[in-house]
Amino acid sequence: MLGLMQDQPLVVSHVLQHAERNHPEGEIISRTVEGTVHRTTYGGMARRARRLANALTALHIRQGDRIGTLAWNTCRHMELYFGVSGMGAVLHTINPRLFPEQVEYIVKHAQDEYLFFDMTFAPLIAKVAPLLPNVKGFIAMTDRLTIMSINDLHIPRLLCYEDLLEGASEDFQWPELDERSACSLCYTSGTTGNPKGVLYSHRSTVLHSMAMCSADGAALASNDTVIVVVPMFHVNAWGLPYAGAMCGAKLVLPGPALDGASVYGMLKNESVTLALGVPTVWLMLFQHVDELGLDPRAELQLRRVAIGGSAVPRAMVETFMDKFGAAVLHVWGMTEMSPLGTLCRLLPKHDLLDAESQMQVLLKQGRAPFGVELRITDADGKVLPRDGKSSGHLKVKGPWILKHYFGAEHEQLLDGDGYFDTGDIANIDADGYLQITDRAKDVIKSGGEWISSIDLENAAMGHAAVAEAAVIGVPHEKWQERPLLIVVCKAGTSLSRAAMLAYLDGKVAKWWMPDDVVFVDELPHTATGKVQKLKLREQFRQYRLP
Ligand code: ADP
Repeated sequence: MLGLMQDQPLVVSHVLQHAERNHPEGEIISRTVEGTVHRTTYGGMARRARRLANALTALHIRQGDRIGTLAWNTCRHMELYFGVSGMGAVLHTINPRLFPEQVEYIVKHAQDEYLFFDMTFAPLIAKVAPLLPNVKGFIAMTDRLTIMSINDLHIPRLLCYEDLLEGASEDFQWPELDERSACSLCYTSGTTGNPKGVLYSHRSTVLHSMAMCSADGAALASNDTVIVVVPMFHVNAWGLPYAGAMCGAKLVLPGPALDGASVYGMLKNESVTLALGVPTVWLMLFQHVDELGLDPRAELQLRRVAIGGSAVPRAMVETFMDKFGAAVLHVWGMTEMSPLGTLCRLLPKHDLLDAESQMQVLLKQGRAPFGVELRITDADGKVLPRDGKSSGHLKVKGPWILKHYFGAEHEQLLDGDGYFDTGDIANIDADGYLQITDRAKDVIKSGGEWISSIDLENAAMGHAAVAEAAVIGVPHEKWQERPLLIVVCKAGTSLSRAAMLAYLDGKVAKWWMPDDVVFVDELPHTATGKVQKLKLREQFRQYRLP
């Protein structure tokens, strides 16, 4: 027997209509590519999203067509989020930090009909446009006057965003879509092999955004001012544009200005209460605060910072707590999971613990919200116990987790129980707290036992002179592999091998102690800001332990 409730589909046009109806005055503040601050509201954004939908219709865009974007976090990008997906087309956000060949590859693979781009990326568009004959037009997200500044790049089939919108009506009837239809598309950064496309549905997007808003999720609310430092060009900025529209939170979109001074300025000027971003941007913020001797606790309203994408070092949690008076919410996820997988909050029983024991919990990746099922297995797929010790392959299942990669629908990706292998190695404790110890492809196996590179890196980053640290396994005659610690020192500081090892002594298990420490000027990073271990291992292929 079926239930007798209404079958209203979960689609993003309903999220937009809700925002326009219920918090039309909710603010959306963007730093533009030109550097000015642009202020609008959910109501204003919704009206322009309808104009955009009309403009796309006039360009013969139909449901299911892919529309690419190479753009920063701005209100125009948000109009594209809602306008493109709302009319039934698919928003394909492209990471502009990818190599031009990768951009060319994914635009062709996705078969994008049009490419929208911020002016910053005009040179990149000029480079790839001649290689993309099937793209019908390249639309600069700017006005008629500013677009003239790129005349000399001779971009073919160039169109102007503001012209398109100006010529379009504000009346648009959002179609009633099947909630399972494609909403947006995002490619993984492809550290091994070609990038792979993850095709989110309206249903997965709406459910994921509701989880972000929930109290045990990121707890976005109408009385929050949220700075979206996670890029809108990767995994839909953790779903924040949709989650913001659901609850009417004031959104602060920093555009291209992600340096410490700019982010600090926006935190202060807009009285931001909640910030979300990857660890590297917070390091830049800390550097700015240190250099100018600022007092964020006194100057800012920041109360919560959600950090994910890479493990959060302890020193970062402490800095946010002590200097900013802000609580850190450690989150874990991946492109294939929309991206939310787990969030770390204390349980009531942790109230009784001392500060150090609470910190040990907070540094874990956290617990799964409803909608995510986690399990760890051994190499043969046998499910391992949730004892906080057994370490294995982390597998996930749920309504906002992928089933197939785009264009590879024939490939069986899930295991017999319907779980997707994340490629992460982790343990889960009896309370359901997940702890990631490594990527499967990065594990260090010493004498048959795994050493967690993440734990070692975090311990090293606790040293005041360390800006960044990475640990890789190097061959060893007796133990097969041993850890090598690679360190970047903060500007103006230096550190010796002996001092680094002495600092780690007592902080990590004896047999985990790196066999050597080398100092470098910088570490290689992926397009999403993670340390590129594959490249590091290549770089140190000739290296021999002392
Ligand atoms: P890509 O850079 O290829 O797009 P994602 O952005 O999807 O990859 O990153 C997913 C991976 O990032 C996870 O599988 C995990 O290894 C790592 N990751 C994300 N958040 C955390 C975290 N809080 N702690 C440790 N690792 C994390």
